[in-house]
Amino acid sequence: MKVLVPIKRVIDYNVKVRVKADNSGVELANVKMAMNPFDEIAVEQALRLKESGGADEVVVVSIGPSQNQETIRTGLAMGADRGIHIEASHDIEPLAVAKLLKEVVTRENPGLVFVGKQAIDDDCNQTGQMLAALLGWAQGTFVSGIEISGDKATVIREVDGGLEHLAISMPAVVTVDLRLNEPRYASLPNIMKAKKKPLDSISVEELGVDVSPRLTVIKVEEPEARSAGIKVADVSELVNKLKNEAKVI
Ligand code: AMP
Repeated sequence: MKVLVPIKRVIDYNVKVRVKADNSGVELANVKMAMNPFDEIAVEQALRLKESGGADEVVVVSIGPSQNQETIRTGLAMGADRGIHIEASHDIEPLAVAKLLKEVVTRENPGLVFVGKQAIDDDCNQTGQMLAALLGWAQGTFVSGIEISGDKATVIREVDGGLEHLAISMPAVVTVDLRLNEPRYASLPNIMKAKKKPLDSISVEELGVDVSPRLTVIKVEEPEARSAGIKVADVSELVNKLKNEAKVI
């Protein structure tokens, strides 16, 4: 079985994101970029499946500008076998991403697609669900555990107040959550090996998908700054301030 893992290049989670001066979006110039953290978890899960004999090939795919090839190389350095880069010059919205991925699925015929539960830049949490719908496949979302047996998979979903166990039939789209695993670091020898692994480039036009935006960003703003807290000497001072200054009790 082949496993396909879509990986998005996003602003590194350690970077403090800044809004552009003209409020048209966030600053990307000279900002450190990295693989979306949930996608690292998806790659890790695909690799573990391959290592346990449940899959024979792991293919990573990324949609975006030429720099996305670096992110694909990171996936290859973690251990993926092959990369596909879909060249796109502007930001692609989740529906268009899902349509492009559907075309890749039709070409590659994987048994499983591991998708991040959400991209940490746009926080959409839409792509996996849309892809499953477009393919007419089963989906397991927010998954923190998975076991595969033949053409069935049991997934554990993190839902409010507990864990839901679902049996899904394959092929399927699974969106992965934080607690599924801890992704490995790429070792230096594997980073070197990754440079020689196959990486194909396909244009959006070749896949025949309309990726024109359906949304217009009106304005992006910094959240309101919070005022600093204070220390109180004792409980009576706290109660006094809550009553007379904050007026919340
Ligand atoms: P979103 O629906 O935007 O929150 O993204 C959810 C997941 O879809 C991500 O974690 C990726 O696995 C996948 N994805 C979204 N955008 C892209 C992209 N441009 N290239 C590859 N995968 C993507």
